[in-house]
Amino acid sequence: MSNLTFGIIKPDAVKAGNHGKIIDRILAAGFKIRGLKLIHQTREEAEGFYAVHAGKGFFDELVDFMSSGPCVVLALEKDGAVKAWRDLMGATNPAEAAEGTLRKEFASSIGENAVHGSDSDENAAIEVAYFFSKLELV
Ligand code: ADP
Ligand code: MG
Repeated sequence: MSNLTFGIIKPDAVKAGNHGKIIDRILAAGFKIRGLKLIHQTREEAEGFYAVHAGKGFFDELVDFMSSGPCVVLALEKDGAVKAWRDLMGATNPAEAAEGTLRKEFASSIGENAVHGSDSDENAAIEVAYFFSKLELV
């Protein structure tokens, strides 16, 4: 089990001014922030990041959304980081997200759902490396 995961505060949450509150919640949950920056992805960068979803019905909508404005990318450290971060995020569909989760509080729809989190240790390593250089990780 790795202690590192990758997160994104998505464009909807940054646009709504919720990124500070979400970072507060991340720190309060006991994560150490190892990397953090504000980026505005091109459509091509978003397509590359979400390549695993290429061909799905929501893919165009997803990459349009993810390249629509700035987002915050994060490398997060905690014991069992992948599960801990997904637990804090809540279900993909905010209508199904548990009370106290970030998606319950900040997401508006299954597409515009405020945060991203890696789904495995393997993907966490790939996703951290997609957005951060070695110099940008402490
Ligand atoms: P998660 O982000 O919880 O890991 P997925 O990996 O299944 O969820 O999907 C990636 C992202 O694609 C979701 O966070 C959401 O932004 C978008 N998405 C997933 N399913 C749908 C859907 N049915 N309609 C629109 N957007 C979707
Ligand atoms: Mg996923």
